[in-house]
Order: sequence, then structure tokens, then C-alpha cells
Amino acid sequence: MYHITADYHTHTRYSHGKGTIEDNVLAARKKGLKRIAITDHGFGHIGFGIRPKDVDMMREEIQRLSLKYSDIDILLGIEANLIGMDGTIDIPEDHMDKFDIILMGFHKGAIPKSFKDTLDLFGRNAVSSFLPVDKDKTRKQNTKAMIKAIYRYPIRIITHPGAKIDIDTRLLAKHAAKRNVALEINASHGFMTAEYVRIAMREGASFVISSDAHHPSKVGDFETGIQIAMEAGLSPDRIVNAGIAKLT
Ligand SMILES: [Zn+2]
Ligand SMILES: [Zn+2]
Repeated sequence: MYHITADYHTHTRYSHGKGTIEDNVLAARKKGLKRIAITDHGFGHIGFGIRPKDVDMMREEIQRLSLKYSDIDILLGIEANLIGMDGTIDIPEDHMDKFDIILMGFHKGAIPKSFKDTLDLFGRNAVSSFLPVDKDKTRKQNTKAMIKAIYRYPIRIITHPGAKIDIDTRLLAKHAAKRNVALEINASHGFMTAEYVRIAMREGASFVISSDAHHPSKVGDFETGIQIAMEAGLSPDRIVNAGIAKLT
């Protein structure tokens, strides 16, 4: 059994979560967590993305809460969107160091970088389920874009790899291991199957089990993720938030 001490992926009202930052912090403390990251959606997500001006407000709030609750680390993070085939994410360079931790994932609601990216990254993926597009090529392109992103930016976690977008798990895991980027076993999506975990394990990848809570009651709810990790026979020392939190 794993002892998970940190939840690195939680949403609040700043994007489309139901609770405040404090609600998530209180829920995490109740579950005995030692660290929580507030990771709302990147600026480019239509409707759900936080606004650049929210970042300073969130930081102030987190500073205030850190003084109030000294028994937990509260990190300001973001779940950035992959928006270009060249690995571009939706956080401008001058905003990168405003965050304690950067997560990156693929979301269909994000605005692509250019018209060509709309076709390649979004169009191709959108039609691949019902049109005979070259699935291998699509998978290769998606994987390449994600790999480029982790070499360009200080990304620490890839959220729900394989969800919403087809990727080559083995190749992504190989580069994630090289860049010390953790692959997420997402307890809400459940897309990372035990089989994927086994493939990624063999490439030396590290993992993080996250709740991806959109409601405070789900913060620290790792059950599905733990089951997947156990089924895969994943050793706790490969899980960055098991035992003493090792990220950042
Ligand atoms: Zn996500
Ligand atoms: Zn999320």
C-alpha cells in the first residue's frame, strides 16, 4: 500500500472547480496531506482558463493561507495546455516563474497557437475517431509535440497522458524519465491503465498519483490511482508523492 502525502493536481473556482483555494487546503489537511498544489487551467483554455491577472490574487491568497495553516505546503501551480506542434504551451515565458510547479496536459478546449496547429494537433485528433486518418502518424505527432514541450519548459508533471489524445506511451516515458518529468496516474480520468504504467515503468519513468479534484471533497482522493499503481506492481519509490514529497 502507498502512503500518498501530497496532491499535486487540484482545481478551484479560478477555473471550473467548485471550491475556493482555502476549501481545497482544508480538505487536504483533513486527509493528512503535507502538501497541496492549486493547479487551475492555463490561460488558453476557453471558458475555464485562469486570467493572467488572477495569478497575483492567487499568490496573495496562498501566502495568507500558508501563514494560517503552517502544517501544510501550499503551492501555486497551473495545468498548462499544449497548444502547438512545436511544443508551445499557453503560459507566456514571462509568467513561468510565477508558479511553483507547472503541469502540462492536452485539453480540447484550448486555443491552438496557429491555424496550422488547429488542423494538426486539434483537427486531426478530433476526426481520428471516425475518419480513416493515419492514426500512427497522429500518435507520432502528438507524442513529438509533448516531448518538445518538456524540453522547452520547466514542466514537472504530464497530466493524464493518453487521455483526449493518442500518444506513444513508451517514447513519452523515455523522454519524461530523461527530463525528470513525472507521468500522472490520474484518479479521476483513469486513462493511465496498469498496462500503460508497466510500459512506462520499463523506460525508467517516475509517476505521481493525483486526484484532479474539481470539488474540495475529492481532494486527496487517490483510490482509483492507487489501484492502477498496485495492479501494475509500481514500486513506491517511483511515485514522487508517496512517502516524503520529493517534487520541487
Ligand atoms: Zn486536465
Ligand atoms: Zn485538471
